[in-house]
Amino acid sequence: MSNTHSQIALITGASRGIGATIARRLANDGFAIALNYAASATEAAALVAELKQAGANAYAVQADVSKADEVRRMFDAVEQQLGKIDVLVNNAGILKTAPLAQSTDEAFEQMFAINVRGVFNTLREAATRLNDGGRIINLSSTTLALNLPGYAIYNGTKAAVEAFTRVFVKELRGRRITVNSVAPGPVATELFLNGKTDEQVQAFAKMPPLERLGRPDDIAGAVAFLAGRDGSWVNGQVIRANGGIA
Ligand code: NAP
Repeated sequence: MSNTHSQIALITGASRGIGATIARRLANDGFAIALNYAASATEAAALVAELKQAGANAYAVQADVSKADEVRRMFDAVEQQLGKIDVLVNNAGILKTAPLAQSTDEAFEQMFAINVRGVFNTLREAATRLNDGGRIINLSSTTLALNLPGYAIYNGTKAAVEAFTRVFVKELRGRRITVNSVAPGPVATELFLNGKTDEQVQAFAKMPPLERLGRPDDIAGAVAFLAGRDGSWVNGQVIRANGGIA
């Protein structure tokens, strides 16, 4: 074990986008970082180097969260490299939009595999493997409250994530582990920007009363609050970090 003093945070899908910014923020807050990725090995390695350069302890671990055996191996590897996990951030996720009637079986299966089974896989491991007093933060989405056309399947996956959050919080009674969701509004990452015209992006940016897109930092701040000391009494909640979109 290379670090026995810092608390350890595992962030899924931390090679890019919101997850990478959560990793930077939690590293800055003093956590040792286990940074999960699926395909973006180069980005993950660069982020580990950046965090180490800044004085943090960081480790990149490849695993497709939709695969139970890979998730089990990921927990094993993190325990071996850094120690037992204190904070789990379920951030890995994908978005494909299409009207339900035109959605493919493949899109349905991919979104449910990563967004739902992925969270199920890590929660199941976390139930026995997280340290007492730990924190779990699951990324949902404000789209669940907006009911926009094209988002039926994606919203279905995030509804499942919020349902898991509410039940799991009770199943962890006695372990002093909090479980919450953070539901971002539109944030300027590849996931959001892919396939949208400039006009569509501008329309989303105008939605919140704060009149801009979210930044990964806006979301990392909400996650850091839940992972840190000030968030200790918040449990079983959904924080909609979205600039006021309703
Ligand atoms: P992103 O920029 O597309 O990044 C997605 C991350 O997830 C990448 O690091 C990717 O890693 C990882 N990932 C994808 N499939 C994976 C798998 N099977 N196993 C492990 N990691 C996997 O997305 P983002 O915008 O940061 O979104 C992060 C989370 O926020 C998602 O849960 C998303 O639903 C939620 N969210 C985003 C927005 C938004 O507007 N951006 C709004 C609401 C909610 P690789 O590149 O290595 O595959």
